[in-house]
Amino acid sequence: MPRPLPRLNPHVTGLRCVRCRTVFPIADYFEGCPACLSHHMPASLAIEYREFPASMTCLADWQVYPDHPTLGEGNTPLITLDGLAKEIGVRTLCLKNEGANPSGSHKDRMSRFVVQRALDIGASTVAAASSGNAGVSLAAYAAHAGLNCVIVTTPDMNPNWRRAIEMHGATLLATETPERRWQVLADRARAGDWYPATNFSVPPVGSNPFGVDGYRSLAFEISHELGTGSCTDILVPTARADLLWGIARGYCDLQTAGLVKERPRIHAVEPFGRISKVLAGEDYRANFPGHSALTSIGGATVTYQALDALASCKGSAVVIEDKAARDDQMRLARCGLYLELSSAAALSGLRKLVVQGVVASDAAVVLVGTSSGFSEFQPFTHPIALVG
Ligand SMILES: [Zn+2]
Repeated sequence: MPRPLPRLNPHVTGLRCVRCRTVFPIADYFEGCPACLSHHMPASLAIEYREFPASMTCLADWQVYPDHPTLGEGNTPLITLDGLAKEIGVRTLCLKNEGANPSGSHKDRMSRFVVQRALDIGASTVAAASSGNAGVSLAAYAAHAGLNCVIVTTPDMNPNWRRAIEMHGATLLATETPERRWQVLADRARAGDWYPATNFSVPPVGSNPFGVDGYRSLAFEISHELGTGSCTDILVPTARADLLWGIARGYCDLQTAGLVKERPRIHAVEPFGRISKVLAGEDYRANFPGHSALTSIGGATVTYQALDALASCKGSAVVIEDKAARDDQMRLARCGLYLELSSAAALSGLRKLVVQGVVASDAAVVLVGTSSGFSEFQPFTHPIALVG
């Protein structure tokens, strides 16, 4: 018997621009707001809801596609880190372990809805420009839904991620440079061949709006578990800010529904100055080149949605160097949490914001641990001790 098609949430009324706030009819706008694009000010569109449920008893009712079989993403553990809270000097500290998602990262919250949207509109092939977690995640969810999947990457892709994508049956294609991936994706998406999960515009906008909407669930879960007032600051490893924006919007939606009084401040953790430079006055459409080992939050660009998210939740941006992230990756592993280097940077970001006085000593902090460390490929420099 054929699987029923996903049913769009009946409260969705359109897509609203995160910059000019114009609402457009329900459709796919891969290059963001048409009005802002015509003024060379690229900005994402976001799912617009007529109203929200009166309670959080059924989180599915808050989502763009409420009911459809999935791989079991979300409801990840929120782990209390009392020793680290004391060491750093904050009231409480928790880590939301997104590495516990089915493919090992937060991207599963997005892939679920990209795939459901593709099924809804009859697309047969989903695609992404990715050299990491997003590609693995989309390949997994496409396989589960019986869709074709194409991941456009670069020749030097981490072999662990390559293995996972190929095991899921997705097609891997490579371009010489990361930027060239976007052109390939753009050509095939505009031709109607591929349904894209990720951005392909330059300057960029956020990822597929139906997918980004899935990140709101992180706010719902944190709020539901901790209750009102017990989270004052959230730190999010950030590149083009899909996750940052989703969490900020989730809290805005909870406040609109009357379910939270105060929203936490949400801070972007980045590997070199991009968002922080724009907050200091530079043009968000500029290029911000930099080198870093934090590859999952790399890239030289900023999106307007990052600025929208930080403005809506009075957040900040903090730059973390590789050495600090490496130290904190070890520190978290010694607490039982083996996270990707880019995820561990959230802890480094907290240390820095406490020293700067941006995060107060009575703060109740949540770090978003975006991805498991198991995907990292790291050659060993010492042998295992032989016994027997
Ligand atoms: Zn606009």
